[in-house]
Amino acid sequence: MRFTRRAALALPALGAIPAPREAASQASFSQGALVTGRVQPGATLVLDGKRLRVGPGGEYAFGFGRDHGPSSTLIVTPPGGRPVQQHLEVTRRQWKIQKISGLPPGQVNPDSATLERIGRERDKLAAVRAIDSPLTGFAPGFVLPAHGRVSGVFGSQRVLNGEPRMPHYGFDLAIPVGTPLAAIGAGRITLAEHFFFFGKLVVIDHGHGVNSLYAHCNDIECREGQMVQPGERIATSGATGRVTGPHLHFGLSWFTTWVDPQPSLPPVG
Ligand SMILES: [Zn+2]
Repeated sequence: MRFTRRAALALPALGAIPAPREAASQASFSQGALVTGRVQPGATLVLDGKRLRVGPGGEYAFGFGRDHGPSSTLIVTPPGGRPVQQHLEVTRRQWKIQKISGLPPGQVNPDSATLERIGRERDKLAAVRAIDSPLTGFAPGFVLPAHGRVSGVFGSQRVLNGEPRMPHYGFDLAIPVGTPLAAIGAGRITLAEHFFFFGKLVVIDHGHGVNSLYAHCNDIECREGQMVQPGERIATSGATGRVTGPHLHFGLSWFTTWVDPQPSLPPVG
């Protein structure tokens, strides 16, 4: 059983009107977790003061970032019932250090015009990831974007040409140029563009703030606004943008919080 399913089931009080004893129950998660599940339709969920969208079938999703603190508070109010507060423990994880050398200096320390472009692209990506749509493509679980060898994991502290940089907010699959890439779930294409770092990039909105991202593509085979189904071909993998070789950089986020994609996907390989 995959982590997200276990995580969802670890919130038993969400599905029914909880007894007072259960109100104090704790559920365990870890940094980088995407949590999905269902509550009684019509219930309201508030995580650390943020009201979560609840779908017509009770679908919900939330995520914990790489550097999330040790706990969160979830308030569940069943339809017509009283609010019940749950304490969620968020386990700390150890992150790897990944050293990458041999990148062209212009890609590690870009010039001012390129920095401006990177800023615009960062804003555009943030705006797309902030979309809160009623789609529920995240609810059935996800399929793999492609099969291949994992060459980079989520959360690694990166050192590029000897200089510390942002952590790695996705996972990498080493696959040859031209490998077909599949949408991991149903959703709407919200971005299909060529970015400086990410190269040719596709982002899919799966609803409730859950987004998947496919970077360094060779060919983009979809357009913004298009609806896609799980497993549908959207692009081929490549080596565009900042890369040292052909691979898919795959990202998963809950709004602007990157989460670890691997526990939410079937095993790779
Ligand atoms: Zn990557």
